Amino acid sequence: MAEKVIVIADSITVGELAEKLNLPVTNLIGELFKNGIVSTINQRIDFETATIIIEELGLDVTLEKKASAGGVEHVTHTLSDKAVARPPIVAVMGHVDHGKTSLLDSILKTKTAEGEAGGITQHISAYQTIRNGRTITLLDTPGHEAFAALRQHGAALTDVVIIVVAADDGVKPQTIEAIRFAQNAHAKIVVAINKIDKEAANPQLVKTQLATEHGLNPEEWGGDTVMVEVSAKTGQGVDTLLDMVLLVADIEELKADIDTPAEGLVIESHMEVGRGAVVGLLVEQGELKPGSFLVAGTAYGKVRTLLDFASKPLKSAGPSTPVTVTGIKELPQFGDRFIAVKSEKEARSAVAIARIEHEKNAASTNITGADLLKMMNQQYESQDLNVIVKADVQGSLTSVVDSLRLIDTDGEIALRIIGSGVGNISENDVRLAADQETIIYGFNVTLPPAVKQLAARDKVQVRLYKVIYELLDDARASMEAMLAPEVVETPVGSLTIKAIFRTLKDTVIAGGEVTSGKVATGLLARVIRGKETIAETEVTSVQRQQQEAKEVFEGEMCGLSLKTSKKLLLEEGDKLEFFTRELIKRKLK
Ligand code: GDP
Repeated sequence: MAEKVIVIADSITVGELAEKLNLPVTNLIGELFKNGIVSTINQRIDFETATIIIEELGLDVTLEKKASAGGVEHVTHTLSDKAVARPPIVAVMGHVDHGKTSLLDSILKTKTAEGEAGGITQHISAYQTIRNGRTITLLDTPGHEAFAALRQHGAALTDVVIIVVAADDGVKPQTIEAIRFAQNAHAKIVVAINKIDKEAANPQLVKTQLATEHGLNPEEWGGDTVMVEVSAKTGQGVDTLLDMVLLVADIEELKADIDTPAEGLVIESHMEVGRGAVVGLLVEQGELKPGSFLVAGTAYGKVRTLLDFASKPLKSAGPSTPVTVTGIKELPQFGDRFIAVKSEKEARSAVAIARIEHEKNAASTNITGADLLKMMNQQYESQDLNVIVKADVQGSLTSVVDSLRLIDTDGEIALRIIGSGVGNISENDVRLAADQETIIYGFNVTLPPAVKQLAARDKVQVRLYKVIYELLDDARASMEAMLAPEVVETPVGSLTIKAIFRTLKDTVIAGGEVTSGKVATGLLARVIRGKETIAETEVTSVQRQQQEAKEVFEGEMCGLSLKTSKKLLLEEGDKLEFFTRELIKRKLK
C-alpha cells in the first residue's frame, strides 16, 4: 500500500498540516473540533494530536517526528526537501545612545542598492541591504516590549542579533537585556563595538566585561562570539560587521520553503487616511503576491498593494522579505502571525473562528476535551452577548473594549467581543455580525449608507455612540435583557380539602375550608399530602355557596375547580397552598 509519509517537528500549525494533507483547512478545524480541540488556522497542534486526527480522518498518511536540531526550538515551519536558502533576519539592539540608529543608517546609506535609500519616505521597521550580492534583512527594534510580545507569540523571528555596545560607555542595563533577548530567542549574537573613532573608546574593556560578566567570549580569545569594532560615524568596520553577520548566518544554514502558502509575522500596523490598514509583514515562508488572501491574527483581506521597504511595488515577496501591504480590512496586531489562504471564503471562516478563539483564549494554545465540555456547559447555563466594536482610533478602541470586559454579570451572561477594530462600520463587520446575533457598537465612527442598508437587510443592530458611558450603559442594558428573570413566589393562602365532588378529564371539583389568607381564581396551588408536596395545579374557579366568587377568605368554606392531570388524584385531607409566581426582570449590580 502506497502510504504517504509526512515529517513534522514536535508541533505543526493547523494551516500547515492542512496544506500537507491537501485538505481544506476548515475540514481540519472541523475534525479537530469533533475531537474536542478548538483550533485556528495558525494554531499549533502537537505531534500526537496530529497523528490522532489523521487516523480519525482515515487518511493513508503516516506522521514521523523530525529529529530535533539540538533542542533549539527555532522551527516554526517544517521545511520540505525543496527548501531554499533565505536571507538572515538581523535585529540591532543595545543600550540607548550606543548607536543603533546610526549603525542602521550607516548600513543603509552605504550598502543599500542604488537609489533605494532615497526612496525611504517613511519610517518602517525593517529594511534590506545587500553585501557582496547577498541580502540581509535588518529589523529596527521597536522597543524591547515589542520583542517581548514577539517572543510571547512563539516566534523566534531573529536569526542574528547585533548587539551594539559603545566603546566609550561599556556594558549597560539594556545591553544585558539585549543579550538575554538574543539568548532566549536562540539567535546568534554578533557584538558591534561602536564609536571606535572616539578618543575615549576602550574596546578591550567592553570585551572583558562581556567575557567575564556575561559569558560572551571573543573569538580572538578563543571564545566563539564574533565581535567587530566599528564606527557608525565614519563607517569603519561596517563592511566587516556585515561579512561576519553573513558568516554566522551561514553556519545556521537558514532555509525556507517557497512552494508553500505565504506565512509570517505582522511587524507593524497602522491606519492611514486613503490607504486604510497599512500593515508591515515579514514573510517567513512562501511567496506573498498582490491579490493573495491573507488572514492575520483576527483580521483578513486581499493584498491590494505589496511594497518593499523602500515603498517600491513588488510582484512577489519571498522568505525574509519585509513588506508593507494594504487591503487588510482591519488592523492586525504586532506579533500576529499571518498566512495566505486560497479564497476570501476560507479567510473569512478562519477569521471568524480566530476571533472567537482570540477572545476566549488569548494566550493558551490547546483546549482539551474537558475544557470544551466545560465551555459547552457554560453555554447552556449562561448566554453570550456577542459584540463587534469599532472606534475611531486605537486608544478609544482599547478603552471601549477594556470597559466592556469589566461589565460584571456574575458570569451569567458572557460578553463576547467577536471583533474589534479601528475605522468605520464596514460591510464586513455586518457580515460577521449576521452570522451570530451580534450587536455592532461604533464609537466616534460612522455607518456608511451602503453598510446601513446591508445591516437593515440582515437585521443586524448597529449602535453608534459618541460618549463612552452611554455605550457602556447600552451594553449593560442589553445584557440585563438577557439575564434569566428571577422567579418570585408570594404565598396567598391555604385550604384543607374536605370533599372531592367530581373528577373530570382535566378538572377536579372539590370543597374545602380556607385555613389562612384567601383563595382566588387564577392562583397557583401546591398540593400537600402529609409532609410531601405531591403536585402543583392552578385554580380555575372558586364558588361560595354554589355561586361563582372572585375570592374566598380565611374561615370560609368554598368549592373550587382545579386544573388536573392524570397524576393529580386529590384526596380528602390534602392541603392546598396558594401562591402567585412572577418572573421579575433582573438588573446587573
Ligand atoms: P541609539 O539610541 O542607540 O539609536 O543611538 P544613536 O544612533 O541615536 O546614537 C546616539 C549618539 O551617538 C548620536 O549622537 C550619534 O551621532 C552618536 N554616535 C553613534 N555612533 C557613533 C560613532 O560611531 N561614533 C561617534 N563618534 N558617535 C556616534
